[in-house]
Amino acid sequence: MRTSVRREAAAPAHGRSLQKKLLVIPVFIPHEGCPYCCSFCNQHQISGQSADPIDATGVGQIVETWLDRSGAGARQVQVAFYGGSFTGLPLQRQRSLLGAVQPYLRQGRVQEIRLSTRPDYIDSERLTLLKEFGVGVVELGVQSLDDLVLWQAGRGHSAEATMKAAELIKSYQFTLGIQLMLGLPGQSFASLRRTLAQVIALRPNLIRLYPVLVLQGSRLESIYRQGQFQPLSLHRAVLQASFMKKRFDDHGIRVVRMGLQPGPELEASLVAGPYHPAFGEMVQARLMFHATRRLLASVSAGQPVHLVINERDQSVFRGLHSANIKRLRQLGLHNRFTLQTDPDQPRGTVRLTE
Ligand code: SF4
Repeated sequence: MRTSVRREAAAPAHGRSLQKKLLVIPVFIPHEGCPYCCSFCNQHQISGQSADPIDATGVGQIVETWLDRSGAGARQVQVAFYGGSFTGLPLQRQRSLLGAVQPYLRQGRVQEIRLSTRPDYIDSERLTLLKEFGVGVVELGVQSLDDLVLWQAGRGHSAEATMKAAELIKSYQFTLGIQLMLGLPGQSFASLRRTLAQVIALRPNLIRLYPVLVLQGSRLESIYRQGQFQPLSLHRAVLQASFMKKRFDDHGIRVVRMGLQPGPELEASLVAGPYHPAFGEMVQARLMFHATRRLLASVSAGQPVHLVINERDQSVFRGLHSANIKRLRQLGLHNRFTLQTDPDQPRGTVRLTE
């Protein structure tokens, strides 16, 4: 079902390149390499692990298990070191963990290594080591580029340190990922917008957006229980994340994750905050609603309208519990169009045909 394109409103959710099958093999190094205690952080709950630190043998076993489980295939395989601050580990330990992945890289069974770290643990020596061991993606826990917000969160580094680290990572030609938070203590919407503009200017390759949650055992929990911190409501978090994603989309910067990975351990440790297991989809749905409304506003009433979406975006179009359909009904717009699907329509976009 392909028809000529008249107008298109886009919120590229997960573009065609992301539809390529990627197997991510997770290796958790919770809180290792990090002597800090950011107010929102409770790495053990986030990673779902609290066991002894993993060694090279353990890394090899994890990779083998995942490769066996997934079977052979032409898919892209990435080993991702999660949690902690990888480049804060002693160099010898970094070598040992990365070394465990080298046989798989040489055999072509793994194509890429990804890790995350703090901006102030980035320098030429560390990046040279990562290059030597075939790391492809370096993600920075940036959270905010507002010094006051960083200070309140107890991050222990400045926004300037982040800017320098990001430029250095790019100069080494790593894929640069940036992780940002919404709803941090002291973070106004104006502050968020300034951070957004600065991050766009940095031209990272990918973004992860995380609304701040109050987790058991984190410093934020006691601040919250003392009544000195109020997390964002779910509604507000969705609005802010939609705003940010739209700007990143407009600049061709991929947002690859919105909201923490849901799981029983995270849910058990959740004290308060805008948690929803389908947070990302709620944001996509919000953007789809706005795109739809814009398109419908561009045609005169009474004109027959067909909207076209990707066939896999039907639930995003409807929204969680059909929230988008209800909103369109409230606006008197639900009868203005018929909906069609097209497998070639980019994900997260809607176009209008006559
Ligand atoms: S830098 Fe990362 S690992 Fe360390 S305390 Fe902060 S959030 Fe947790």
